Amino acid sequence: MEDGNIGDEASSDEPWDYLFDVKYTSYAGYVTSSLKLAELLEKYEYSTSTRFRCLKSGKHFGKKFEKSGACDPKVRIWDTQNNADPYIRYDGTPFIIMGKKVLECHQGFDRDSKTNQKKQTKSPASDHTFKRKRRLVQSTKKKDCPARIKIRHVVKILNYKVSDKDKPSRKFVPQVKKDLHDNTAELVFQHRFYVSLPLEEVHRNHMKGAASSIMQPMDSRISNYIKKVVTEHGVTSTLKMKLLIEVFLKQSIFPDSPLPPKHNKRFWPSLKDIYNHMAVQFLKLRDSSFDQ
Ligand SMILES: [Zn+2]
Repeated sequence: MEDGNIGDEASSDEPWDYLFDVKYTSYAGYVTSSLKLAELLEKYEYSTSTRFRCLKSGKHFGKKFEKSGACDPKVRIWDTQNNADPYIRYDGTPFIIMGKKVLECHQGFDRDSKTNQKKQTKSPASDHTFKRKRRLVQSTKKKDCPARIKIRHVVKILNYKVSDKDKPSRKFVPQVKKDLHDNTAELVFQHRFYVSLPLEEVHRNHMKGAASSIMQPMDSRISNYIKKVVTEHGVTSTLKMKLLIEVFLKQSIFPDSPLPPKHNKRFWPSLKDIYNHMAVQFLKLRDSSFDQ
């Protein structure tokens, strides 16, 4: 609920909905692998013309569960943090919490504070990302966007389940603990990544939607493609390059899904952008041919 990430049931239709293995709303649910998590986040970013980057990630987040790990796994039956976001809904199956990851909106970031941030990163307190950011807000004119993607990784142990008729019970806990210790091979694990996505209105201090996507830099796959086409095939026409990029988008980046809207400059660079990228490659080619 906090920060505008919603956790209650609400029906809506968003392009990334189908990527949830279990969907509570378009902005909350879970997926059962880190690959699916990456797909979901990518689709969410493309569809909303947003970009996020890691702010904080737990040590065991996204890792395999190992009983010999440094931490003594605590077997849980329900989420004891009622206001956790995302909240792990009760389903009668015991689980272990692996960790949390928080991503922050990339677009609310003030580029001028980069040097300042570098200085701060080198300081001994650099582990405390949150603290560092807070200090930055005070010490510079940084315009932070509060939009966050929050993810919690848990491992469900599917061998056990309280029947739906039973009251929530911790009766399995001692047995699960014992099995985790002596009998791991028999256990059936399911990794779950619970995701809480921000609504568009949570973004602050930057342009949103179509307007912000006009400002987005070219996707690196496209700039690499331009480089390749110029150096290997000697294409010199920007119009021809634009058509080739469209084919590349369809065949290589979005083979199984619709193309992003044309105002999204990350995928639909302008002729001027294309020209500039090509020009850099021509200069490099010319320089290298002088060397020979
Ligand atoms: Zn934002």
